[in-house]
Amino acid sequence: MEPKDSTANEAFKGFTNSDCPFYPCHQGVKRAFNCLFCYCPLSAFDCPGPYKAFTSKNGVRRKDCSACTLPHDGHTQSWAFIQKWLAQPVLWDGGEQTRPWPRESENAKD
Ligand code: SF4
Repeated sequence: MEPKDSTANEAFKGFTNSDCPFYPCHQGVKRAFNCLFCYCPLSAFDCPGPYKAFTSKNGVRRKDCSACTLPHDGHTQSWAFIQKWLAQPVLWDGGEQTRPWPRESENAKD
C-alpha cells in the first residue's frame, strides 16, 4: 500500500454510505456526500461552519452543527477543508459563531 502522499488514488478522501439510516443527515450537500467526517474532527476546534452554540444538560458548551455541510460536500473538497483547518488547530472557546465561511481574510476556494 502506498503512502497517501504519493498515491494517485484518492479513494481515502471519502466515501458515501447511502445505506446509513440517517443518510442524508445534512441537507444542501451539492457534491458527492462524504461520510468520512461523520463525527466532525473540528468539533472541539475553531471552525468556519454555521454552528449554533448551546450548553448541554451537563453544563458543557457544545456545537449544534445541523446546518453545516462543510465536512460532507464533495469527497476531495471536504477532505481539503478538514486538512486545512486541522493544520493549525485552535481550541474552540465555546462561543457563538461570529465569522462563518467564507471568512473575508482567507482565500476560500472550496
Ligand atoms: S460547524 Fe461544521 S465544520 Fe464546524 S465543527 Fe460543526 S460540522 Fe465541523
